Amino acid sequence: QSKKAGGNRYTFFTGKMQDEFLYSVRLENGLRQAVKDGGKEFILYYQPVIDADGEKITGCEALIRWNHPEIGLVPPNDFIKIAEESGLIIPIGEWVIRQVCVQIKEWDAAGLDPVTVSINISSEQFQDASFVGDFISILREEDVPFNRIQLEMTENGLMEDTKETLQTLAELKRNGIAIAIDDFGTGYSSLSYLKQFEVQTLKIDQSFTKELTDNQGDKAIVTATIQLAKSLGLNVVAEGVETKEVSLYLKNLGCPHLQGFYYSKPLTPVLFEKFITRPAAQ
Ligand code: C2E
Ligand code: MG
Ligand code: MG
Ligand code: MG
Repeated sequence: QSKKAGGNRYTFFTGKMQDEFLYSVRLENGLRQAVKDGGKEFILYYQPVIDADGEKITGCEALIRWNHPEIGLVPPNDFIKIAEESGLIIPIGEWVIRQVCVQIKEWDAAGLDPVTVSINISSEQFQDASFVGDFISILREEDVPFNRIQLEMTENGLMEDTKETLQTLAELKRNGIAIAIDDFGTGYSSLSYLKQFEVQTLKIDQSFTKELTDNQGDKAIVTATIQLAKSLGLNVVAEGVETKEVSLYLKNLGCPHLQGFYYSKPLTPVLFEKFITRPAAQ
């Protein structure tokens, strides 16, 4: 296809680029429709976060999927960027917050031990002037205490507009809403923001933990990050724990929380409930 295009001096798009462009237009239109329909095509999966002592589940991370009527299950890496660029992330993000509230109340009603639910927030959402107010309104409407939900932001997202960010973080802190830095160590920010920003948790990116036990560089970075977090009085979660070996290594380093496929993939609400109530989880 691109060979044919190459024969024409006036063709700028290769076939592949054109396919990608058409696919993203299709997704954007589909997302707009999905938002109009009230979010029925979206689903939240929940991935357990494990306490390293005792291996109890102390939290989970809500991860969105989109069940496209024709394409099927679309992963977030395929559509979050499109949602961010089109502004649709604002209503989608509100749907996520509300859905998490509904889920928390369902689990409470079913008598599950309460876990903190983490929600991913894009910088486009965080920078929206009404973000904190809208977040608080939804939790009040749904009658969910603020300390049941934690927000995850990437370093890059937090660095975009430092003055505004500091104000938003202070407003969240005043209301007792906790923040975790997601994908820690992969951004292009300096470490100095850690003493300025009032965050509670660092999530070590999975790129450092995947081959942790075979890679000296990863070992050095992960060891230093856990130390740094401890010295600053922050909580740490290691993401991307895929093997028993890596989980043991992290426990020996004193990493208090672990998340990854070794413990569980992200689960549908029904499977999450089964996972948390299974005999081995007690
Ligand atoms: P993230 O927040 O860093 O989430 C972790 C991703 O790593 C998830 O991918 C999860 O399924 C995957 N993961 C967890 N454990 C392992 C492991 O042991 N090995 C490997 N290889 N992967 C693991 P997922 O669900 O595809 O989400 C991708 C990204 O999409 C998320 O990265 C987050 O940045 C974004 N995202 C997901 N849900 C939302 C949402 O509701 N709102 C926003 N704004 N972004 C979201
Ligand atoms: Mg996350
Ligand atoms: Mg992450
Ligand atoms: Mg990420």
